[in-house]
Amino acid sequence: MAPKPNGFLMFMKHYKKREEKRGRHFEGGIRGVQEDPQCSREWQQLSKAEKDKFTQMAKQSKQDSKKKTGTGEYMDDVQRAKKKELDFESEMNNEIENTVANGMEMQDLNVKKFFFIHSNWFYTRTLESGEFDYFPAEFALAEFSLESGVTNIYHELIRTEIICGYTREAMETSQETHQIPWDLPSAEDRFDVMCDKMLKFLRPYKVNGKFPPLYTSRKMKGPVRSLLNKLTESKGLAEDTLFIYDLEILFSHLRNAANKQYDFKIVMAEYELIKDTFSFFSGLDCKYHKSLDGTSQFCSMSTVKRWAFTICDCCCEQLNIEMKEGIHYPKKVIVDAEEIAASLESQFNQLAIDNISIKSMTGVSNMHRKKVSERTEREEQKRRNDKKTITVINYAENNSKTKNPTSFSAAATASNSMPEEYQRPLRPPNTIAAIIGDRNGPSFNADDFPSLGVAAGRGRGRSTRENKPTAGRGRGIALS
Ligand SMILES: [Zn+2]
Repeated sequence: MAPKPNGFLMFMKHYKKREEKRGRHFEGGIRGVQEDPQCSREWQQLSKAEKDKFTQMAKQSKQDSKKKTGTGEYMDDVQRAKKKELDFESEMNNEIENTVANGMEMQDLNVKKFFFIHSNWFYTRTLESGEFDYFPAEFALAEFSLESGVTNIYHELIRTEIICGYTREAMETSQETHQIPWDLPSAEDRFDVMCDKMLKFLRPYKVNGKFPPLYTSRKMKGPVRSLLNKLTESKGLAEDTLFIYDLEILFSHLRNAANKQYDFKIVMAEYELIKDTFSFFSGLDCKYHKSLDGTSQFCSMSTVKRWAFTICDCCCEQLNIEMKEGIHYPKKVIVDAEEIAASLESQFNQLAIDNISIKSMTGVSNMHRKKVSERTEREEQKRRNDKKTITVINYAENNSKTKNPTSFSAAATASNSMPEEYQRPLRPPNTIAAIIGDRNGPSFNADDFPSLGVAAGRGRGRSTRENKPTAGRGRGIALS
């Protein structure tokens, strides 16, 4: 095993290099240097400052020789982070279990408040630590209880500036999912203001000076973590001021609270949330997403509400909570087309949707497409002036007149608009039609037209051996 680096070892290395330059050779490498009395004498004579220099070098060398992971992080740091994560997870598991168990014991589980959070993002960046940093576009924080469903929501659309090089990703993410433009004028861009609002929303539910945990689905942990970091950072708060718990774990404990025999596993909770039974219910989304067709299921506000409905759908019956429309499952929306059209129009105007410059897969923005492919006013006018009159032919009327071609008014009308070359009568044919010309063609006899018997029917009749007339094949009325 190589000796551990210390000041003297570093000095010996330095001494060896220097002496070798002068032409000396050390038998046995560094061991040979160690046996050289000159070397230890020189080390003794060094001043404290010079010795310190070598000690410092040894420390640096120790640091550099530490084990690293494939991505260049120190193994120790990674292990420490991993342990912290595991500790947090076991603490979370215990706390969720205790919360639900206490609620059952005190019979107040149905009024206990839980907080659900969801966030959409524009683009992601890889941090030095290897984690992803998500740049939020929208978030919704819902206050939920089993008895009253979602009672309060804090929702924000976020305006942001895109870091150079990430525009394409932001465009694609937006277009494929939430369709929020990053420069939406009505959106909020001050994280400190949003942080204040969020803390105000949560403050009444602080326990022992701690904010309540915010539940999110496992898929959403990354984006929500980034959002919370940005919020707390903006106010200079500790990173763990707001912390995230697993929605799936809470869901499974709630479902198992009343019925211990049937173990509703965490993966089943995960599956229920992914299945998203209520994804096609309209009217759950925020004002912005209500105005955009087909984006409802991506909306943060709609998502937190759907989580609540899914949990109610699976747990309320078990916990003897009466299911109410609009609280435990979505209200049926009665569609008033006119009202929707009016509200859409006003919202579109408000949101200045024209500002959206999201590009399609071909890289063409909506704005550009409109500019190059839409008709100008002049073109449109020209198109209208050039219009041709349409001739309407009433075939029902013509049929009665076909026997008298001279009175075929439609033909006359048509010929008027026909070009000259089509007005000449067609020449008679030069050849005789095959059916007329072939005099030696097939001749028919009685065999070809056998008797149909007494039965009148479509198709060829067939006589049986007894010569008994039978019904012909096909439809017919048999008389015998
Ligand atoms: Zn939304």
